[in-house]
Amino acid sequence: MYIDAHAHIDVKEFDQDRDVVVNECKILIVNAGVDLNSNLRSLELERKYRNVIAAIGFHPEFIKDKEQEILKSLELTERARIISEIGLDYYWIKEEELRKKQLNVLELFLQKAERENKTAIIHVRGGMKDLLSTLPSYKVRFVIHAFEGSVKDAKKIIDLGGLISFPPVLVRDKYRQEVVKQVELDYLMTETDSPFLGPEKNTRNKPCNVALTVKKISELKNVEENEVIEKITKNFKEKILASNDRIPFPQ
Ligand SMILES: [Zn+2]
Repeated sequence: MYIDAHAHIDVKEFDQDRDVVVNECKILIVNAGVDLNSNLRSLELERKYRNVIAAIGFHPEFIKDKEQEILKSLELTERARIISEIGLDYYWIKEEELRKKQLNVLELFLQKAERENKTAIIHVRGGMKDLLSTLPSYKVRFVIHAFEGSVKDAKKIIDLGGLISFPPVLVRDKYRQEVVKQVELDYLMTETDSPFLGPEKNTRNKPCNVALTVKKISELKNVEENEVIEKITKNFKEKILASNDRIPFPQ
């Protein structure tokens, strides 16, 4: 079974063919909420599809326009098994004050993750230094989604007990390929970030494209695709779902 550890299939881009997209390969999809509405839709999708897991969060890009949705989103975490999308985005958000707010919100969600024993799947663009100094204060399992950092950053994440996750953009991104080569399979995760970060520019990405990430990882590391699939599934069960077994892992 493929694992898409981070996708946004609740968005309108999938309104026409969501049923097909969710079922066109054997896959488990984590749908990450980015604001209050998408958090609610994420929970709905989990109810509707047996291979979708809801994640609840608040995307750091929305710190300016949707601040009033943060508290309600925080309240929803107890209804989900995973916490996402949360994190730091210093690429789109340049104002110092707003960056501080992002960090505050991130910490609020990390507190919930620790208290509720849930894995946090984290977005980080440009804020790696702040993230690395924040994470050690919390006893949480975590994944860095759509990792775009250096090999050095990847090693730091792994030292802190985290996983790093790659979307299909990997097939056209030499920099990320180099990181994958340097990191053991034990610490890798696959995702799509659908409808973004696809194998081709400006086309809709979809969960089953995770097969392309798997294929690329298998080439880069010179191991069979099946071995990659098995390892990623194992990482997901043991390091993301972990003891959080209220709902059994779908077969
Ligand atoms: Zn995302």
